[in-house]
Formats: sequence, structure tokens, C-alpha cells
Amino acid sequence: MHDVIVVGAGAAGAASAYHLAARGHRVLILEAQSMPRRKPCGGGMAASVQRWFPFDLSPAVDQVIEQVRFTWCLDDPVTAVLPGDSPFWIVQRSRLDQFIAEQAVAAGAELVDAASVETMERDGDGWTVTAGGHRYCSRAVVVADGSKSRFASQLALGNPKPRFASAVAVEVEAAVSEPNTARFEFGLVKHGFCWAFPRQGGYSIGVGSFIGNTDVDADAVLAQLLPSLGLATDAGERIQSPLRVWDGHYPLHNTAGAVAVGDAASLCDPFLAEGLRPALLSGLRSAEALDRYLAADDTRQAGEALAGYSLAMRQQWGESMAWGRRIAQVFYRVPKVGYQIGIKRPTAPQRIAQILSGEMGYGDIAQRVIKRLLFQRG
Ligand SMILES: Cc1cc2nc3c(=O)[nH]c(=O)nc-3n(C[C@H](O)[C@H](O)[C@H](O)COP(=O)(O)OP(=O)(O)OC[C@H]3O[C@@H](n4cnc5c(N)ncnc54)[C@H](O)[C@@H]3O)c2cc1C
Repeated sequence: MHDVIVVGAGAAGAASAYHLAARGHRVLILEAQSMPRRKPCGGGMAASVQRWFPFDLSPAVDQVIEQVRFTWCLDDPVTAVLPGDSPFWIVQRSRLDQFIAEQAVAAGAELVDAASVETMERDGDGWTVTAGGHRYCSRAVVVADGSKSRFASQLALGNPKPRFASAVAVEVEAAVSEPNTARFEFGLVKHGFCWAFPRQGGYSIGVGSFIGNTDVDADAVLAQLLPSLGLATDAGERIQSPLRVWDGHYPLHNTAGAVAVGDAASLCDPFLAEGLRPALLSGLRSAEALDRYLAADDTRQAGEALAGYSLAMRQQWGESMAWGRRIAQVFYRVPKVGYQIGIKRPTAPQRIAQILSGEMGYGDIAQRVIKRLLFQRG
């Protein structure tokens, strides 16, 4: 019998497991793949996530980004120099997720990998979970099975009709010309953008489309982007990954002791596809709430503890994402105007740097940006 079973050892599940184990709970993590597992992801992450962990995350950091360059059709560049002490990191996901999972194990959690969860069922006051022919029992569960989550909707957690962005990831081994610069290109992708993040020994490159069901010809986009980095047009293996994005406020808990975290909870930013920061934040907040749930004296207290998790994520992430979604809807419909008046403004580089570093939310800039975009269109 465990206190909590965590389904999925990605960034969100590993973070939740770590914070629960560090609070003295008996935690079991079940992960479908063998660890360390491969995860298509740009790996861009605000360094401010460090404040959510008592251990140093730097062993998982591949590259420190000092500036961000935006372009429109590979031209018309805008460079934002990031302020302060290394505000944006590039991580390799196989390393980051494994590293946090190792910290969870060091804090007392048990990790079983290559164990795909088949069923999660309420059983008396607790849960029975089956994986790889075994049955496991717990008092509470954390659903952290990512964008293709089976269990979030089954347990009525989060958005019942998830919205997906389409994303294609490419890893290219190459000499990197500007190792401290992350690039975002807005003109080549309909309803989205492409990125090139430097990492040790190469680039994490990707193409993302965020509104409508746009069918992006990623190969055609990459054939234009890659030569600008000195790479062959067909370099790298292309991996298509649907990405569940934030699309409204929903409860992320149920009263039976289940919570959803990370992509399973549809937390990813619908404008810039930032999913790591909310994955790690939801890992921490879910653990705090489950800690109170497990110590509760009665059902009222237990229910309040888990409702506190949904509320915290709404206040600390969802409110900003509601503005991010509005910005995305206007910006990606008129991206050329958006680029000229949103990104090429004299104050924009500083604002963008503050958003990327996590210092500012979309709510802080949204009303002005949307008014400007609508006014220019009219
Ligand atoms: C192409 C691309 C580029 C991206 N770039 C960035 C970026 O630069 N910065 C950023 O912040 N975000 C980025 N994101 C978003 C980010 O990758 C996700 O938001 C993040 O991975 C969410 O973490 P997670 O732990 O919720 O899910 P995941 O990392 O997907 O982990 C889920 C885990 O659950 C496991 N699992 C699934 N089903 C089961 C099961 N039945 N039983 C047991 N285990 C199971 C999976 O094997 C997996 O290990 C990108 C996404 C894509 C697709």
C-alpha cells in the first residue's frame, strides 16, 4: 500500500513524486517507457523554476541562453538580451526528467519503469492501479501521463475536450555558431512559429502551429529554416507530437483523491508552447495539496485540500494563460502585423525577456497588445 501512485515520470510526474517523497510519503512512480526516455521537446525553460526545488538543477542544464533573436521570414531581426543571472536555460529532456526522478528516489520514492499503467480504479477509500501484470494500491493518485493522457478524462480531471497544437521536433547534431542565442522565426509557419535552440553538440529545432487545425508542411518550413543555421535542408529525424494546450479553467482534481499535472492537465502555454514551467509548478502544488489531503481529519478538509490545488494552478498559471490564448488568437491570425507592432516595438525585447524568464505574465501586457493589434487591423 502506497500513499500516492504517480502515473508518468515526465517533468510533472517526477516533480510531484519528489515533493511528496520529500514530505515523507510512500510514493510509487509507474513509467511506461524505460528511463532515461526520449521526449521530443525544445527544452527551453525559465531558470526561475529553480526556486521550486531545494536541489541544484544545473546538472540537467545543457546551455545558458543570454539572448533571443526573433525574425520574420528569416529577416527583420529583433534581439532581446535577457536580463539578470541566466534567466533562460536549455535542457535535454531525457536528462532533466531522469535527474528529477533520481531525486525523488533519493528522497524515498520507488520508481518502476517499462510499466505502462493499464487501469486506475477507485477501490473503497483508495485506488487500485494495474501495470505490467501487477496490481498496486494507494490512497491517492497523480495523473502525469502527458499530452496523450488516457486517464485525465477517465477520472474527470481537467479539460474534457482538450485542444491540441501540432508540433514537429527535430534534433540535429552540428557545430553551433551562436551557443548563447535562442531563435524564434514567425513568418514561415502558418498560425505558429519555428524555433532553433542551441544545446551541447547541436540544435533542438521545431515547428509549432497553434490555432485552428492547420496542416503545416514542416518539411517545407525546415527546408527554409535549416540552411539559415548552416544545416542541410533534410537534416535530422522529424518527430510529430501533438501538444495539449491550455484552453480554459477546469478543476484539476476530483474528490476521490486524484489530481492531474503537466500536459495531462492541459497546462501548456497556447502562445509559445511553454510546458515545462507549468509541469514543474503543478508537480509542486499537487504535492502540497496531497500532503494536506493525506493528513486531513475528515472528508470536508480532504476535499478543500485538493480544491486548493485547482485554485492555486488557476491563480498562478491559468489566469496568465487565459491572456496568452487571447494573444495567440489575435497574433497568429495577423502575424505580420503582430510582428511589426508586437515584437518590433522598442520596449518589446525587454517585455519578451521578462515573459520568457517568468518575471511577467501575459496578463501584464495583454490588454495593450490586443488593443494595438485590433486597432492596426481596423
Ligand atoms: C516538439 C515540442 C517542443 C516543445 N518545446 C518546449 C520547450 O522548449 N519548452 C517548454 O517549456 N515546453 C516545451 N514543450 C512542451 C513540453 O514538452 C511539455 O509541456 C512537457 O513535456 C510536459 O511534461 P509532462 O511531464 O506533463 O509530460 P511528458 O513529459 O510527456 O511525460 C509523460 C510521461 O508519462 C508516461 N506515460 C504515458 N502513458 C503512461 C501510462 N499509461 N503508464 C505509465 N506512464 C505513462 C510517458 O511515457 C511519459 O514519460 C514542447 C513540446 C513539444 C511537443
